[in-house]
Amino acid sequence: MNAGQTIAIVHLFPTLMGTYGDGGNLLVLARRAKARGLTPQVVTVGPGDAIPAQGDLYVLGGGEDAGQVAAARYLRQSAGFKQAAEAGACIFAVCAGLQVLGTDFEVAGGAIEPGVGLLDAVTRRREPRAVGEVWAEVLPEAGSAAGLPPLTGYENHGGGTALGPAARPLARVVSGIGNGSGGPAGDGTEGVVQGHVLATYLHGPVLARNPELADRLLSLAAGGATLPDLATPYVADLRQEREAYVRSGKLSADSVRTRR
Ligand code: GLN
Repeated sequence: MNAGQTIAIVHLFPTLMGTYGDGGNLLVLARRAKARGLTPQVVTVGPGDAIPAQGDLYVLGGGEDAGQVAAARYLRQSAGFKQAAEAGACIFAVCAGLQVLGTDFEVAGGAIEPGVGLLDAVTRRREPRAVGEVWAEVLPEAGSAAGLPPLTGYENHGGGTALGPAARPLARVVSGIGNGSGGPAGDGTEGVVQGHVLATYLHGPVLARNPELADRLLSLAAGGATLPDLATPYVADLRQEREAYVRSGKLSADSVRTRR
């Protein structure tokens, strides 16, 4: 990492996929980059804008079905995004963003929309909708995310995502639904890692609740640089409080299954 190194962060379609507060992820990334002496440059891309090809990190949030269909169409048509993905830029996606980066996804009403194809993942409608708190442990085989502490967040999605062999799950669900394919309780996996693409179903914003994940993304975006430690004392307290909460059994039984 070079002092003052610029990190170009591209925030994709927050007006189409920004209904779950995931814009906060950008604030966390920029703040934590600055605190390390990096120079974050956040570019926001709206419908009809060209997507820059030279970004270091591309970020997608969650959203409603109609917004994500529109975003998928823009992304599929974008030469800049294709170029960035082929060049190995780091891409981070939440919920609808995860679904959009997959092979294809089904929306309410049954239409199936092609995705961008960066993740070996297929999304179909699931019942019941997955709503509630999630606690998930990052898997040792989670590629570039391996070694992170447990993830906390909340989920709210009607799609369930099944991973193909080229994709790896990010985490194992301890409480909550996560990717949610294969039946009402899901298959026990949460999120996707495939090369330089990381995706999760967690909102919160997830990077505010799990700043170690933000740091991992910044490190990848900075070419694998080791970032100096940055104390964030409230995070351990919040994680402890969330763990006590999910283990207390106070979660609504219809939306959450506790696995241990
Ligand atoms: N519209 C998608 C679904 O319901 C994604 C929702 C979200 O991003 N929270 O599955």
